[in-house]
Amino acid sequence: MANVLVVAELTETGAVRKTTHNAIAFAQQAGGGFSILVLGDKASAAAQELTGFGAEKVFACEDASLGAYVAEHFAPTVAEVAKQGFRLVVATASSFGKDLLPRVAGRLDGAYAGDCASVTSNGGALTFKRPMFAGNAFGYCQMSTPIQLATCRQSEVDPAEPTGGSSPVESVAKVAPGAAASRIQHLGVATVKSERPELGEASVVVSGGRAIKEKFFDIMNPLADVLGAAIGASRAACDAGYAPGDYQVGQTGKIVAPSLYIAIGISGAIQHIAGMKGSKTIVAINKDAEAPIFQLADYGLVADLFQAVPELAQELAKHKAAKG
Ligand SMILES: Cc1cc2nc3c(=O)[nH]c(=O)nc-3n(C[C@H](O)[C@H](O)[C@H](O)COP(=O)(O)OP(=O)(O)OC[C@H]3O[C@@H](n4cnc5c(N)ncnc54)[C@H](O)[C@@H]3O)c2cc1C
Repeated sequence: MANVLVVAELTETGAVRKTTHNAIAFAQQAGGGFSILVLGDKASAAAQELTGFGAEKVFACEDASLGAYVAEHFAPTVAEVAKQGFRLVVATASSFGKDLLPRVAGRLDGAYAGDCASVTSNGGALTFKRPMFAGNAFGYCQMSTPIQLATCRQSEVDPAEPTGGSSPVESVAKVAPGAAASRIQHLGVATVKSERPELGEASVVVSGGRAIKEKFFDIMNPLADVLGAAIGASRAACDAGYAPGDYQVGQTGKIVAPSLYIAIGISGAIQHIAGMKGSKTIVAINKDAEAPIFQLADYGLVADLFQAVPELAQELAKHKAAKG
């Protein structure tokens, strides 16, 4: 019997989100084998996408009412499957995982550790490492309940790769929520359609700060276009209304860890750094050579962004065209 249950996260169209691969890697760290639970209106198809990761089983709970995520409708089934003998239930610390697992914990009387960077098993006892104080310190915690729950920080855990195995898929029935929870219905999602990659999953992110002001998109779009990048922003840029709130990167925004992160006119406050310091290569463009972001950057350009960024976008476009 596997030790860990991974709760898969799906997109609105029912495909497996990459965040699930990070949760699988986290489950592998805990050891003792793992199974995966997929919930959705197309869960069986999504479950097939996850059979190659070495899970003991992939549970598929397919039900028309699970097409859109509603915590109250998902939690009873997750709790019921977890009771089959799992010791740890994990998901990625996305809004899905952070919303769902505490509710499951409540149903199971289990302790919950959110936003973990890693987990280690010592003689079966699990120790969870968690960032604290905007990532400036780590805390280590152990939980004492028989079933434990944890979300992992996507940027701290490299996604699991398929191992080539073929896990069996087992159907599980949806556990109906109670009378009160049944009254909670999903009416719709107001999404902003974008051709760009999603900020949390993009391999290149270009982020802009308050300094760009009303020219935010005039400056950022051409560079993002040529790099095929997602656009992020500092909280100051979002608060000022130069960029939408869901672009915010940082402690109270999204945590990103792309291969390339370009910070443009961003000072490098610790709360911003908490959201992007896991990026593989960091480039900073700032007119102040003393800006704290340069202490973290792999490459820094001291320049006026209004001149440097359009030039950079133009040069990259020329380079791209020359390469065909
Ligand atoms: C509880 C809490 C949570 C927070 N959470 C977040 C968070 O999640 N994310 C986040 O980003 N912030 C967060 N903050 C805010 C954070 O402390 C900073 O205030 C914010 O990150 C600053 O944004 P900024 O770098 O765009 O602006 P500023 O700090 O004002 O920096 C602007 C930078 O632009 C440069 N600049 C100006 N003009 C030009 C030019 N023409 N060319 C090139 N460079 C130029 C300046 O030299 C400066 O370095 C939080 C704060 C608190 C208290």
